[in-house]
Amino acid sequence: MSEEITDVADITGPHRYRNNRKMVPAGEEAWGLSREHGMLGLVVEAVEGQNRLRDLRTGHEFANLSSCSYLGFNSHPTVVEAGRAALEQEQITGLSMGEFRIRLGIMERLEEELSAHFGAQVLPSVSCGVLSAAILPLLASGHLTDGEPLVVVFDRFAHFSMNFLKPVIADETLVMTCPHNDTQFLEDVCKRYPRVAYVAEGVYSTGGQADLSGIKDLQDRYGMFVYLDDSHALSAMGERGLGYARTVFDTLGPRTIVVASIAKAFGATGGIAMVGDRDLFDFLYRSGPLAWSQGLRTAAIGTALGALEVHRSPLLGERQRQLAHNIALFDKRLAGHGLRGEGSHIKFVTVGDNDRAVRLSTELYRRGYYCSAMFFPIVARGQAGVRMMLRGDMPTELTERFATDLLEVLADVG
Ligand SMILES: *Cc1c(COP(=O)(O)O)cnc(C)c1O
Repeated sequence: MSEEITDVADITGPHRYRNNRKMVPAGEEAWGLSREHGMLGLVVEAVEGQNRLRDLRTGHEFANLSSCSYLGFNSHPTVVEAGRAALEQEQITGLSMGEFRIRLGIMERLEEELSAHFGAQVLPSVSCGVLSAAILPLLASGHLTDGEPLVVVFDRFAHFSMNFLKPVIADETLVMTCPHNDTQFLEDVCKRYPRVAYVAEGVYSTGGQADLSGIKDLQDRYGMFVYLDDSHALSAMGERGLGYARTVFDTLGPRTIVVASIAKAFGATGGIAMVGDRDLFDFLYRSGPLAWSQGLRTAAIGTALGALEVHRSPLLGERQRQLAHNIALFDKRLAGHGLRGEGSHIKFVTVGDNDRAVRLSTELYRRGYYCSAMFFPIVARGQAGVRMMLRGDMPTELTERFATDLLEVLADVG
């Protein structure tokens, strides 16, 4: 048998949507560089929320500008206490089964409270990535609509948690990749095919936003299905923390699904899918990965209930306003320096090669800020840079100081 295989080409895949042989070595090279500079594998204790972490090996203290907990609710006492209280009350970590069969009363309560708060049928799960893995193949094959397959168009910048499903979806239907925010491309596809779904993010993880009104217009005119991942906007933006996608897609209807992680600004752990009707909710609950043991564990249910309580308090508005204040202040100080993400809490500075990206993040760390260097394949080749996130639990003074330091470091490294 082994003699028959003469060339690796005989067993390698078609690599139409992913290519580990190319991607993994490129990624590992960049991570190696980061590790050499001591920027990976840091072990810390939180001295003061996210604004003061202490490196347990060196004692170095720094602010975390790499956290997606944009409002600092991940350390809010109400959230932490609710996780403990849920375990105390239920005395079981979870049911460990497909929870469309049997679920705890506290889980049903969470579903009801999330649905009331976000004005949709809200399906929680262990992560947002799992929700996309469960939903997108069913969307593709037409089982959320009329039973006929849809052409699925991914925005080129759609998050890895959706992109990595392309080969699975391509087994069901035609998959396309659309240039970033290119509604003309989308319209051409809608003219050509009767059923089209667009998969994109609301606020993109490396900065920038979807053209929501352009997308809505295509939905209105062609019936395009819209699947938006709003992980970086939920809680951080919008009334009641509804996020960015829901500012335009306020009522969801049968052709829109919004998913989001609740491990980010929301302050708990897991993910949610917001859908328009109860039948869809029930269908998805028993589908694919969600039918395994992917329900939220008891402690996670508790922290999500606690986070909702915080969302209903004035603190949500206060932290959102502080975040907006920090963004405006930062944008003013950094104007003209070519950062991506103006007006957004996610900023990206492109410096070009991996080495400069690591040097920039290392120097920022030395000055007391952890920001993530990002490389190919997360960003395009030759477009390495550093991502930094502003938060609503950052005091103005810290944002000012960060802007000053960043300007100095950019002048040195840039
Ligand atoms: C973080 C993130 C996810 C993954 O969320 P999990 O809940 O960790 O699975 C999905 N989509 C986007 C855009 C993200 O930034």
